[in-house]
Amino acid sequence: MSTGPLVLVVEDDPPLRRFLCTALAAHQYRVIEAQTLGEALVAVTTHNPEAVLLDLGLPDGEGLSLVLAVREWSTLPILVISARGREADKIGALDAGADDYLTKPFATGELLARLRVALRHAALATPTEPIVEFGSIRVDLAGHVATRNGEVVRLTPTEFRLLALLVRHPGRVLTHRQMLLEVWGPNSSSHVHYVRVYMGELRRKLEDDPARPRWLLTEPGIGYRLREDSADTPPPAPRTP
Ligand code: CA
Repeated sequence: MSTGPLVLVVEDDPPLRRFLCTALAAHQYRVIEAQTLGEALVAVTTHNPEAVLLDLGLPDGEGLSLVLAVREWSTLPILVISARGREADKIGALDAGADDYLTKPFATGELLARLRVALRHAALATPTEPIVEFGSIRVDLAGHVATRNGEVVRLTPTEFRLLALLVRHPGRVLTHRQMLLEVWGPNSSSHVHYVRVYMGELRRKLEDDPARPRWLLTEPGIGYRLREDSADTPPPAPRTP
């Protein structure tokens, strides 16, 4: 008898849906299923799941509509699982408010690890922690101070805002657009190079080897992710350009 978090699996492909449900149940998750966008919208409001695994291509509409609908009223974790590996699809889902994105085919272990990360973040009722540490880096969000190996790192206000944004969403992919909007404001959306330049500065000041960053990771073509300092976060998958 499973007692774990309730997960809604939205997938119209029967073998894959069965596979996902079986894998989740084997790890003590409680599972409800939906095959269509319509069923998913009903399930999410009537069963109040703690997380959603969401296929994008559904027979009666786009999974993205579910993300947009849910984000009107909930921060419930949504992990998109899709055969569409194009950057534009990933960016669209993340910008709409999905927490993470996995491209089919994916390893079950990675799916479960990402789900644990998403649930853990959701469980932290307060979105910010005053002090966050990863490796030798320590960020005091309230005090606006970052240290590395105990030494204060001199950051410009913009660099600190960018670092704080990443620190508040550990493990989560932030798109260039989200970062521009949060750090530089609504009129900056075409200035993707700002993000690249400032991330370069943060790496230079915080990483042991800025050319091979351990914490401030690039999601090629999409944005950036702060690696979570946690045993069950998978290392970044090898990527082909
Ligand atoms: Ca599908």
